Amino acid sequence: MAMPVDPVLFHRSTHARLTRRQLLDIAWKAGVAAAAAPVVSSRVFAQMAFQAYPFTLGVASGDPWPDGVVLWTRLAPEPLGDGGMPMAAVEVGWQVAADRAFRTIVQQGTTVARPELGHSVHVEVDGLAPGREYFYRFRAGRELSQVGRTVMAPALGTAVDRLRFGVCGCSHYEHGLFTAYRHIARQQFDFVFHTGDYIYEGRANNGQNDPRVREHAGHEIYSLVDYRRRYAQYRMDADLRAAHASAPFIVTWDDHEVDNDYAGDRDESDDTPPALFLLRRAAAYQAYYEAMPMRATSLPSGPDMRLYRSFAFGSLLDLSALDTRQYRSDQACGGGSATACAAATDPARTMLGSDQEAWLFDRLGQARATWTVLGQQVPTFARDYVGTAPDGRFQMDKWDGYTAARDRLFARIVETRAANPVILSGDVHVHYAADLRRDFTRPESPVIGVELTNSSITSNGDGAEHAADWATLQQHNPHLRFHSARRGYIACTVTPSELRADFQVVDRVTTPGAPERTAGRWVVEAGRPGLVAG
Ligand code: FE
Ligand code: CA
Repeated sequence: MAMPVDPVLFHRSTHARLTRRQLLDIAWKAGVAAAAAPVVSSRVFAQMAFQAYPFTLGVASGDPWPDGVVLWTRLAPEPLGDGGMPMAAVEVGWQVAADRAFRTIVQQGTTVARPELGHSVHVEVDGLAPGREYFYRFRAGRELSQVGRTVMAPALGTAVDRLRFGVCGCSHYEHGLFTAYRHIARQQFDFVFHTGDYIYEGRANNGQNDPRVREHAGHEIYSLVDYRRRYAQYRMDADLRAAHASAPFIVTWDDHEVDNDYAGDRDESDDTPPALFLLRRAAAYQAYYEAMPMRATSLPSGPDMRLYRSFAFGSLLDLSALDTRQYRSDQACGGGSATACAAATDPARTMLGSDQEAWLFDRLGQARATWTVLGQQVPTFARDYVGTAPDGRFQMDKWDGYTAARDRLFARIVETRAANPVILSGDVHVHYAADLRRDFTRPESPVIGVELTNSSITSNGDGAEHAADWATLQQHNPHLRFHSARRGYIACTVTPSELRADFQVVDRVTTPGAPERTAGRWVVEAGRPGLVAG
């Protein structure tokens, strides 16, 4: 039942005599009188009294459309336990304002946090103004959440002067501090694209050779409760929460959200029966959905979840977010790296699966924007460690292990003349900028686009200026234009005439507060395929 705002609450100097509860009501309702949106029922907020603050995991927004976005939070007073919530549905209020102080509330409502989804909420707001910045927050019982900033996509088909987005991924909690996420927060991007490995599934202190500044809670994760707790541990990090509160995220997963190097229904070990691995995948996908600001179209069903989806940013940029894990064929030649492995070229093997590949190829045929961006996980460019095929040595988990699928994708890009293709990737814990050649074995073959690979937020620790294998890779892969083995993210600025990629790095993630610097500046000019030093 809706209740009008009581004008008495706005009277004179009565604040001194109000209870904390009433003051919160005032804070929540300030600006409501000016809003045309329905008034929140204050009745529902009286139902829940928390022993501890429930918004320990912060707030997030994601999947921006021109008129709306997903607002996310999860109630978890005891985030590393079972969440600490009663096993009941709990109402949560939400507000969207034009200003950070919530003087002008433009929309508000209530939603329900349910035990089935770990008391997460995913509010799909619509009716907002294209291209505009907004602020949002939640309320449960007497508690207010942090305030998040979000940005709508520009209106479909309209001209856009400038768009700024970040590209990041691979944030192993044990390997370092999330300083680079803090730097992302400062950027106040229009959106952030995440290439996956948001969590890592291993037990505490897994891998003796890796740096370790803090520990995962518990064992390797298998159950829904395990995965929920792992996301909670990561999201309790203030730097990661700040990144989410700074801009909408468009998230994708890679392997570690489930199991290292899994492929479709095959786990890392390859000796788990697929039907059993799919039980684990179902738990992992549900926890992922619960933890991320995604639309209901991505709600998983058993071991299946629709991750691939598309976004449009006016007439400037078209983004296809891809899933190279759920539908791929198993790694060829035993996985790892392999030399002269004929199975890697088998045209029957797939990276995207037939449905997603058809969906993407159809989209490429209809691409109208100035920039055609494919956001995904593993590098598509060749990384040959010993010399060109057929005798090259390649990593089988990347598109190098699925060369027929890569050839189909590149052929489709050429055939459709999709404008200014830019592929985003991550996974390998090194920043790369690469020219994409139609045929990497022929350096004279045309450049059809570029790839920007983000290093990692923390994975593999402080790193180094140069990767140990860089000299070898440079020698055999002339399409590789830049690399840095420091941690960081990519800051992209897109206009109708150019796409600028600043490869941001921090020199230390094992000690707090490292400043960021730009290790590489690269530009793509519209209409001219290939990278130019910027
Ligand atoms: Fe990774
Ligand atoms: Ca990975």
